[in-house]
Amino acid sequence: MEDDPKAAVAARYDALFFDLDGVLYRGDQVIAGAAEALAAIGEFGIPRLFLSNNSSRTPDEVAAKLTGLGFEARPRDVVTSALATASFLEREGQADATAYVIGEQGIREALGSVGIQILDGDPARTDLVVIGLDRSVDYGKLRTASLLVERGARLVATNADPSLPAPDGLWPGAGALVAAVAATTGVTPVVIGKPARPMFEAAAQATGARRPLVVGDRLDTDIRGADAMGWDSLLVLTGATRPPDLLTADETPTYVAAGLSALTTAVPPARFRPAWPEEADAIEELLRSGGLSADGVRSRIPSTIVSASDDLNAGPDATACLEVVGDRGTTEAEAEAETILRSVAVRKEHRRTGLGTLAVASAVRESRRLGLGALTLFTVSASVFFEHLGFRRAARDELPEAVRTSRHATEECAQAAVPMRLKLRSRTAQN
Ligand SMILES: [Mg+2]
Repeated sequence: MEDDPKAAVAARYDALFFDLDGVLYRGDQVIAGAAEALAAIGEFGIPRLFLSNNSSRTPDEVAAKLTGLGFEARPRDVVTSALATASFLEREGQADATAYVIGEQGIREALGSVGIQILDGDPARTDLVVIGLDRSVDYGKLRTASLLVERGARLVATNADPSLPAPDGLWPGAGALVAAVAATTGVTPVVIGKPARPMFEAAAQATGARRPLVVGDRLDTDIRGADAMGWDSLLVLTGATRPPDLLTADETPTYVAAGLSALTTAVPPARFRPAWPEEADAIEELLRSGGLSADGVRSRIPSTIVSASDDLNAGPDATACLEVVGDRGTTEAEAEAETILRSVAVRKEHRRTGLGTLAVASAVRESRRLGLGALTLFTVSASVFFEHLGFRRAARDELPEAVRTSRHATEECAQAAVPMRLKLRSRTAQN
């Protein structure tokens, strides 16, 4: 799969935007294989940027840290939330504004570089109050910032991360400091860092990219931000996210992989959508090639999803189906309907690429959207895969009657198939 560079994931994009912590390193530890993977990606000659939400460090400092860890990185390859804040304010026509700053060298330098005048001490007025990570902040600074916002200054947050992971636990992040001023004044800040748009806009502007790939380890920042921009994303499982998290999140990445080496392989993108009736034959073929029952595919098309390549003649790369069994009842209280997740299949050459995981994640997300409480599936050979995603083995006699007596359970699946259950937290139940 690594033989054809043109088919590689990286080659499909005009820029690669990398998150740092959890992707390239954790704290001061390089993630195994990350430096080699990044060097291999370098061969593609695609512009790449390192995106850091931390506004306290300058691009020189970030590049020096990366170089020290064995990565090839120049200061101009780095976009921090500090640089993005400065470029956002410049685009908004505030390059000659005055700013009161809670923050460290990174943000002070970045604001100064576009011409913003930083006011220290206790100014009576200012155009902007800019808040980033500041490890020497005190009550006096928070009071001054709050008073200035009350007097009309625009409140800008370099990023909204509530905490900063440190070796001994979580430290207050920029978001926690901004929260103090926001709570005092009742003013909602403009946020620049991921997952907000200005950070990504700064990265796009720096590279001229129109079709970039965002690579990150967090669903709620990296992947959500990419989604909001309409960009593809790769989630790497070397940081904050575990596979079961994919089944409870609202975001689905385009790719999921154990690490960065996926970028140089031909993993297909996951673009799940409802299946079309004319795809029934191709879905049947895909199911049979995976040793699964293809009976009744046509009748289940409305509850089937597929991910297909741009080549419409190629047939879907992956599929999954949610089959409702039992009596739906006329009221919610009467309903005894249950949902079976079935017919999860991935084209042979794309197995073990994360596409199956994303098929299950997309189906589970659809179940949550429909307000379903639980899913059952039966599997002969993939129980370890589903356990890894958070499904639990169940005994047949524990299953709801509608599932136990379904045609799928009694006729289509081998008696040796293991029943597995996943409880869903519906969003309405959470509220
Ligand atoms: Mg990260």
